[in-house]
Amino acid sequence: MQDKFGRTITYLRLSVTDLCNLRCKYCMPEAGVCKKNHEDMLKEDEMILAIEAAASLGIRKLRITGGEPLVKKNILSICKRASRVAGIDEVCVTTNGVLLEKYAQELKDAGVKRLNISLDTLDAGKFFEITRGGDLKQVLAGIDAALQAGFAKIKLNAVLMAGFNDDEIRSLAELSINKSIDVRFIELMPMLDTNFDQVAYMPISKVLDVLPELSELSVDGIANLYKLPGAQGNIGLISPVSNNFCAGCNRIRLTADGKFKPCLHAPEEFSIKGLDFLGMVEQMKKAILAKPERHDDLTGKNISKAERSMNAIGG
Ligand code: SAM
Ligand code: SF4
Repeated sequence: MQDKFGRTITYLRLSVTDLCNLRCKYCMPEAGVCKKNHEDMLKEDEMILAIEAAASLGIRKLRITGGEPLVKKNILSICKRASRVAGIDEVCVTTNGVLLEKYAQELKDAGVKRLNISLDTLDAGKFFEITRGGDLKQVLAGIDAALQAGFAKIKLNAVLMAGFNDDEIRSLAELSINKSIDVRFIELMPMLDTNFDQVAYMPISKVLDVLPELSELSVDGIANLYKLPGAQGNIGLISPVSNNFCAGCNRIRLTADGKFKPCLHAPEEFSIKGLDFLGMVEQMKKAILAKPERHDDLTGKNISKAERSMNAIGG
């Protein structure tokens, strides 16, 4: 389905839970999230019905995200059922990797085609600090398990933070050399309930300063693609703050409590909780037609108008 600005919406990001086994400083409030009433969250059957409704409106790619999707007990069943929905060509998962060593093969067997794994630093102490307690070893083991399971073109996502990981741009990028791994750098977005944004934001152009040998390839969705000489994987640069890419936006989001969000950085939401298939289709149409032409400025002291922290949207 097309929105009011002629963009065809083909990509749904479904958050299956707000909960997470990490507490990244830029994503979650320090206290974590208040566990919502179980009754207010989408049940597995409702998620599948919503995916069917979305497919009927032209969604072809589904990304399962969170919170941390792998803390959800029925995640394998959700992935398996989602990958069988008629019209859905590709089910992908975004994970922090902590539980991936356990789940990589089962995700593959459940029909998941691609994995994005978040990794901001290769330093165990810094990882512990930014995630408020995480263990880097688990994520590295998870990446290995994903490669072993045969996931092609794994994407590692690193949020760029001045004074935190700008000294690791090269070492993170070099993970793309010997393995079939794309490394993507993402500008830090100023979200609600996180006070990490003002000091740490750094424009994506910093990556090009540090890696002048990068050769430019193409644009892939929201990422500008580059390559290090001789590397197997690509480098993706994603710049939601310094270079608005809304004109090419093909996405819609569904939160774990059943709200379609037309835009990551806008407050509007359309609830589908408790609705049947046709009711969900109608709400999704309204959400697509409510997509703004572009999100508001996120530079300087501006904060996203999302009215949710990132873990409650899904990124
Ligand atoms: N827990 C999973 C993970 O970390 O990959 C999935 C959910 S997480 C909200 C999805 C993505 O959003 C992650 O890659 C994370 O780094 C990114 N993210 C969270 N807060 C962000 C922020 N303030 N700015 C930019 N990216 C952010
Ligand atoms: Fe959890 Fe992912 Fe947010 Fe980190 S970025 S707190 S891993 S949801």
